[in-house]
Amino acid sequence: FTEIMQITRDEGEAYQLLKRHMERSLTGSEVLVLNRNNSHDRLEPVTELAATSPLVDKLKAAEPDSCLAVRLTRIHERTDDHEPLLTCELCGAAGVNSTCVPSLVGGEVIGSVLVQHGSALSDADKRRIAESMSQASPVLANLRNLVLSQARALTDGLTGLPNRRAIDDTLKRLVAHADRTSSPLGVVLFDLDHFKKINDLCGHEKGDEVLATVGSVVATTVRASDFAGRYGGEEFIVLLPGADRDGAVVAAETLRLAIAGVDVPGVSLPITAIFGVAAMPDDAVEPTFLVRVADRSLYVAKANGRNRVETHGQDPEPLVAPV
Ligand code: GH3
Ligand code: MG
Ligand code: MG
Repeated sequence: FTEIMQITRDEGEAYQLLKRHMERSLTGSEVLVLNRNNSHDRLEPVTELAATSPLVDKLKAAEPDSCLAVRLTRIHERTDDHEPLLTCELCGAAGVNSTCVPSLVGGEVIGSVLVQHGSALSDADKRRIAESMSQASPVLANLRNLVLSQARALTDGLTGLPNRRAIDDTLKRLVAHADRTSSPLGVVLFDLDHFKKINDLCGHEKGDEVLATVGSVVATTVRASDFAGRYGGEEFIVLLPGADRDGAVVAAETLRLAIAGVDVPGVSLPITAIFGVAAMPDDAVEPTFLVRVADRSLYVAKANGRNRVETHGQDPEPLVAPV
């Protein structure tokens, strides 16, 4: 088990492996692996759970402390013949014979496993599942840290939006998908107006606050299927799968109004932006060129004033990739 656990590719595979291994070592048992979600401080099921299980409702609001094994930081068994002083909110709902095993790494709870079994467990059974858990826990922790560090490498720390690297990857993927499905892809690039002035007059920290606020406004304004990222400095990008140029202009207008409505205490200068729009396949069919057309539209917007949306549509010379 330890050897196979070491070579798991991702958390999902590791959870399945742990479940299968524990179910095999306790005949007739059913195992549910729970993961501690740190941002919401919840215990969440990460292996299958029947929709009809009484645990479904319990787990909706389950905090790590809901599990007695987590509170005790040791295995906790609940059986028929012994009424506990304190009932575990999870085992209690699971049925009579059930055991919770906490997953601990460096004294910290990273999850737990709930085992439902027909009859009471022997001491040897308990030792075996506790041992499986202690073999699995460091691997689960490593896999989770890997996922977190990968996510961090793709996220802009100030705004929490995807960074340039993530944008480049996503743009490539969305362009390929649009190409394959012969569907349009809209791109909106925008740049905050006179941002340097905000920094100079209100201070760099206020500038940071403006960027973070704009980031969250963008993230909440676009549709869930759209993609927003910080392109760099005071420039942001939104990718709109399925949107043609007109659709992207509508989205850009919505964003323009949302940003013009941003209010950051202590910043008396207006917060506005210029927007450059491009769409595939009308303007370009290649990621770099698509962004270049949107960028060129930005210059048109700047030349025509601020706080406005422009497209490159009017340009008589479409950009063509060099052969
Ligand atoms: P324009 O209206 O022509 O776009 O002018 P601008 O001042 O917005 O643009 P410019 O390119 O002249 O200056 C951008 C400024 O953004 C300069 C840079 O110091 C600032 N900036 C870039 N990244 C950050 C950041 O993370 N935080 C803060 N506070 N400022 C940043
Ligand atoms: Mg700029
Ligand atoms: Mg600017």
